[in-house]
Amino acid sequence: MATWLVTGGAGFIGGNFVLDAVQRNIKVVNLDALTYAGNVDTLASLENDPRHVFVHGDIGDGDLVEGLLREHRPDAVINFAAESHVDRSIDGPAAFVQTNVVGTLALLEKTRDYWKSLDAAGRDAFRFLHVSTDEVYGTLGETGKFTEETPYAPNSPYSASKAASDHLVRAFHHTYGLPVLTTNCSNNYGQYQFPEKLIPLIIARALAGEPLPVYGDGRNVRDWLYVGDHCAAIRRVLEAGRVGETYNVGGDAERQNLEVVTAICRLLDARQPLVDGRARESLITFVADRPGHDRRYAIDASKLKRELGWAPTVTFEEGIAITVDWYLRNQAWVQRVLDGSYRLERIGQG
Ligand code: NAD
Repeated sequence: MATWLVTGGAGFIGGNFVLDAVQRNIKVVNLDALTYAGNVDTLASLENDPRHVFVHGDIGDGDLVEGLLREHRPDAVINFAAESHVDRSIDGPAAFVQTNVVGTLALLEKTRDYWKSLDAAGRDAFRFLHVSTDEVYGTLGETGKFTEETPYAPNSPYSASKAASDHLVRAFHHTYGLPVLTTNCSNNYGQYQFPEKLIPLIIARALAGEPLPVYGDGRNVRDWLYVGDHCAAIRRVLEAGRVGETYNVGGDAERQNLEVVTAICRLLDARQPLVDGRARESLITFVADRPGHDRRYAIDASKLKRELGWAPTVTFEEGIAITVDWYLRNQAWVQRVLDGSYRLERIGQG
């Protein structure tokens, strides 16, 4: 049985990735600091599964990481752990530098030392996969797409900290030979996303009949990818990606924020109309734009498609319907996030 050390596996994408990996009979050691974004409720189905070992801790804790590597001897480290919300990075950038830069550096150093201790075959097979974002490339005008050759030009403290971590990952390959892979993915959506991000936030507010805040004129464009397709891309890169390379991951699904919000409103109106009969689109409220808000992101994922045969399997229209239905069926999960009880229980558990 393969063993993977996954960091940030109680978060949105990491949680989806861990649930899937265990189903595939991979032993996962899941290291997560359980910040506000970490939610062990997501992992409830793995509670008594011996293939999942949950460890509450920080990627920046070198002694802890060293001990986990020595004890579990993973075949790969997959780094999802990060501070991930752009708005929070504007209010407090220091936490982003701490986890995304300093934390990733500590994880790299301990992984390098572990990797060096392996025999030749183990060193050959080992991989460190770093999960990153398309936001490192900055913003686009009306045309063009980000390729792996696009120069980095991060515009928010979040994307700047992710860019720094990508550079450290690259440097650990060039300097020490660590077999690294980096994926730069567009905006994800799907089940278990924390309701501060656009799609789950809008679903929660629209269900409650509350105003639906949309930044600026709502015309900012993001390239949306269903989380299951992102997880498949990561697995594929891990399996067959060329060491030292980066791979862009995207859904070929550019949508203006306003289009996304409208799609959610229509799906919810069809499934669960508001009692007063109002169309939910009437709840859309434009709010002051986010400072430095990138206008458009679009990903050219042709390298990943050409070299590794990956392609998204879920269209935006299918994925957004799956997501809305998931949130409707899993209101208890959402409610425990919204009322804070997902954290209280954790404190209760010590
Ligand atoms: P998330 O905020 O939902 O989850 C992050 C997880 O990391 C949480 O469980 C949190 O508790 C944990 N964490 C934070 N600091 C930690 C630390 N110091 N040590 C250990 N664990 C820590 O984020 P997400 O949306 O799942 O994103 C996961 C990764 O994918 C991030 O690296 C992010 O930059 C990247 N990414 C996200 C998207 C997206 O659309 N969400 C797109 C591309 C790339």
